Amino acid sequence: MRPRIALRERLQALTQFTDLGLAKPLLKALAEEGYQAPTPIQAKAIPGVLAGRDLLGIAQTGTGKTAAFALPILQRLAEDRRPAPRRGCRALVLSPTRELATQIAESFKTYGRHLGLTVAVVFGGVKYGPQMRALAGGIDVLVATPGRLLDHMEQKSINVGATEIFVLDEADQMLDLGFLVPIRKVVRELPKERQNLFFSATMPGEIGKLAGEMLRDPQKVEVTPQSTTVERVNQQVLFVEQQRKRALLAELFDDPAFTRVIVFTRTKRGADRVAKSLEQGGVEAAAIHGDKSQGQRERALAAFKAGQVRALVATDIAARGIDIDAVTHVVQYELPNVPEAYVHRIGRTARAGAKGSAVAFCADDERNLLRDIQKVTRQAIPSFDRRNDRHLGAALAVMGELKGVREERPAQPHRSEQKPSHSARGRRSGANPHGGSGAKAHGGEARPATKPAYGGSAAKPAGGRGRKRPQGARAEGGGGSPWSNWTSR
Ligand code: AMP
Repeated sequence: MRPRIALRERLQALTQFTDLGLAKPLLKALAEEGYQAPTPIQAKAIPGVLAGRDLLGIAQTGTGKTAAFALPILQRLAEDRRPAPRRGCRALVLSPTRELATQIAESFKTYGRHLGLTVAVVFGGVKYGPQMRALAGGIDVLVATPGRLLDHMEQKSINVGATEIFVLDEADQMLDLGFLVPIRKVVRELPKERQNLFFSATMPGEIGKLAGEMLRDPQKVEVTPQSTTVERVNQQVLFVEQQRKRALLAELFDDPAFTRVIVFTRTKRGADRVAKSLEQGGVEAAAIHGDKSQGQRERALAAFKAGQVRALVATDIAARGIDIDAVTHVVQYELPNVPEAYVHRIGRTARAGAKGSAVAFCADDERNLLRDIQKVTRQAIPSFDRRNDRHLGAALAVMGELKGVREERPAQPHRSEQKPSHSARGRRSGANPHGGSGAKAHGGEARPATKPAYGGSAAKPAGGRGRKRPQGARAEGGGGSPWSNWTSR
């Protein structure tokens, strides 16, 4: 089965944008962007969408799905030029977050720069007036978040009744954010005759139902099953006490290879705390989450993109769909409650086929979450035990003395806590650090139970579903950064 998929993907890689029936102004914009060939979802989806078919795209961000819908939409609008309806749009794209909506609108502008079509974006948290004015004369492509769009529809500043093409992006995320009711309200106002494009990374039952309601004889295109991201990203789990996580994080940033890092926390307050702790340790950091104003978020993202801050500390929702090139590492300061979020998180560092590195911290009360993640991703993530690590203890003491920062309280996982781990017991009984009873870890694999176990060949990726695992322990005080091996990927 797998070799056949690989062959198909290779054949698709040979497809050129010119084979897909795209018009010259679009090809020109793509060449200017430096895109050489379509990604698999683009190769599969663009011809059908150009022909007017509905589409069910099962794909996550990072696959090039935005261009997969933006390019054929732009072409269809340009081929059949007509004025956009007043206070309405010709193509409507719904996106779950403001950041993603902004990015999608930017993509439309970039790819459509030689076509002279109009693009606008509408989302909450900012004033209505400018949005109303932008929409008054009609717009070709409108990208919106559902809540604000409905507000505009209720105030009659937007009428979606003449929409020709409707895109629902990140449908599963819409479900997570409680947007299904607003979406159904919007869909009810759309004309019956329209083209629908529906994208979701996963297909939980409710999303399948919504797709069934919306789509007519869709072409189904599925790319990048979640395992692909999992395979591309070099992953490691570090077991560590919750209160020592910030010392461990500071240690990671000692490695200059950690140049552009997204750090995930479970809560907004946690994000602020972690960003503050990094700043106090001399690492430029910015936090991004739902309590930040639009301006603050934009400034944080811009500073991160420009390389002015090394660390962007984010909650899942704030980071969803954010497309930032060349993220060197993703650090999960806390594991997510939903296993799928783990895959979304690590996907931030493996955009458009690139490889990346991801480190997840796991405190004892997060072991259940880790087990679920390994089940969903069908991999055993290489792990290292940094609990009871005197280096971290000492570093934490120094941090506390220097900065006067209080020990943090853990953000509680929602799932039940697990009993104290066997490896702690093992160490007390003097287990062999290289795979004795004290070194047992997930998936029944033996793990070194003592201090710095990574580095050297230990830092190899989970590759091919994580069958590889760390080998030797790095000697204490050994030269070079324990993370230096990560950077080659
Ligand atoms: P998306 O999945 O739409 O968020 O896209 C992920 C990233 O891939 C974005 O940075 C795009 O600019 C980039 N991208 C999309 N299509 C291509 C392509 N054909 N070649 C190279 N990069 C691409």
